[in-house]
Amino acid sequence: MGFFAPREAKTTIPCPKCGEPLLVVRRCRSAHMACPRCRKEYPLEDYIQKADKAMEDFLDNCYIDRL
Ligand SMILES: [Zn+2]
Repeated sequence: MGFFAPREAKTTIPCPKCGEPLLVVRRCRSAHMACPRCRKEYPLEDYIQKADKAMEDFLDNCYIDRL
């Protein structure tokens, strides 16, 4: 890892469609969940309560409001 905070991180939260672990992806000042297999995107809010360690660490590095 270099100077920049990562733009995405793999979580252990499965995609509701295909079961592939979702990625948490940051884009500008917001973030969302994305499936690397079926390319579906999901609102972060739906997954905040299920956040795992990887996701929490990622979000700690993001400048977003955690609702
Ligand atoms: Zn999927």
